[in-house]
Amino acid sequence: MSDLYLRFVNTPIGKTAAQTLGLPAPVPLQRLKRTDQPFIEGQVLLGAAPGGRAIASLGRILGASPARLFHATGRDSLADSAGAGNACRPLDLANTELTTTFNALVFDGTGIRTPEQLRALYDLFHPTLRTLERNGRVLLVGLDPGQCRKAPQAAAQHALEGFTRSVGKEIGRKGATANLIRMAPGADAWLDSSMRFLLSPRAAYVDGQVVVIGKGADTPATNPVAPLSGKVALVTGASRGIGEAIARTLARDGATVIGLDIPAARDDLERVTGDLDGHSLTCDITDAQAPKLIAEFAEQHFGGLDFVIHNAGITRDKTLANMPEHFWDMTLAVNLVAEERIDEELLGRDLLRDNGRIVCISSISGIAGNFGQTNYATAKAGVIGYVRGMARHLKRGITINAIAPGFIETQMTAAMPVTLREAGRRMNSLSQGGQPVDVAEAIAWYCHPASSGINGNVVRVCGQSLIGR
Ligand code: NAD
Repeated sequence: MSDLYLRFVNTPIGKTAAQTLGLPAPVPLQRLKRTDQPFIEGQVLLGAAPGGRAIASLGRILGASPARLFHATGRDSLADSAGAGNACRPLDLANTELTTTFNALVFDGTGIRTPEQLRALYDLFHPTLRTLERNGRVLLVGLDPGQCRKAPQAAAQHALEGFTRSVGKEIGRKGATANLIRMAPGADAWLDSSMRFLLSPRAAYVDGQVVVIGKGADTPATNPVAPLSGKVALVTGASRGIGEAIARTLARDGATVIGLDIPAARDDLERVTGDLDGHSLTCDITDAQAPKLIAEFAEQHFGGLDFVIHNAGITRDKTLANMPEHFWDMTLAVNLVAEERIDEELLGRDLLRDNGRIVCISSISGIAGNFGQTNYATAKAGVIGYVRGMARHLKRGITINAIAPGFIETQMTAAMPVTLREAGRRMNSLSQGGQPVDVAEAIAWYCHPASSGINGNVVRVCGQSLIGR
């Protein structure tokens, strides 16, 4: 689906018109061009509050990229450069006129124990934020406030969220994003996959998000350009839109894909799975026999599954007073009930392999609610509750997470009335809609073997939409 306004404002005439009329001027987002592309290039500035426990890991992860690394010093609120490793050159923020620009500003805030120490945020970002390049990244690492023993530390750690979200709104007009990783104690070893994802073009439309990382399973060595090799993924609703992009992205990363869709979508589904050397399975996921059919297919062809991606979804919008009964029932059945029944069957028969991944698709409607979508928002909020509830019980290294997309350019959103569609596209920090691949890249990140420390998260892929938290 094409956003003509985005194209227009990036022409010389369009730029002038937008400036004169004070209209939003979204910057085209840079997405992944090649799978062997480094996760970050250019120049990166790393800063830390004193006592930061992630600094060594951040220095090591960034040191594996071709980026030139600098470490901020010169202010009492910032740690000295020792912990970041030899690859970092010190940059004295108190005495240097900044002439250089940065592709990413990375901050270790894990050492902040009191609200006074939040001064480190000002000291690092005040002089440097305007040096951030277009499509740049701000990434903060903090602690989970729920696990802080003292209230001042919990306050200070929670404060990082407000800072991240506000910075995201300030830098969105450059196509740049800001996100926060919250680390559980001792989870440094599981930072790698999330740092690499959030700093990379794969996360172009992930903005203003908080990702919580705990301790996961040991990370096996993987092929960097095909990290999902040898894995089998079931993707529901794979014939078009976001599901098609998920199928293509997981296959790009090496997975064998079983695409599932309703019988009426068979031709489109076979076109997608044919391109990917994958397998097609047609059924309606709300049929009573669907969980058994899926389980038997997976068992007979592959002996089990590694990833289950619950993408199939429908909307049936009406205000509640005008909503026919079947609109309510169908929307709940497809978007929520079917997922739970399929998982129950697969887990009950031990068909989801060790270190497997379940990924559900929620929606920002399920977070904020939406006019005319009581049915859809109920189902999508239920998905969030389901993910959080299941995350506590899964065993054998299996994780479950959700993505809550915002406005994504698909046939579902193309069918919206034009004014609502235009509002959906612009009402976010990046002033544009996302692409199906943006959701797909986030799912590939959850599925990565190094992402075992991510469990029970709900990450919005919404360009920091004004709707939803
Ligand atoms: P889409 O309508 O383009 O695709 C949905 C797919 O699911 C279709 O191929 C459809 O045939 C399939 N499907 C529907 N009911 C099914 C059933 N009973 N059994 C099997 N397959 C079924 O939608 P999309 O925009 O690609 O959305 C994909 C997911 O993302 C959905 O869960 C949707 O609710 C969610 N989502 C989308 C957006 C957006 O902006 N597009 C925003 C938030 C959430």
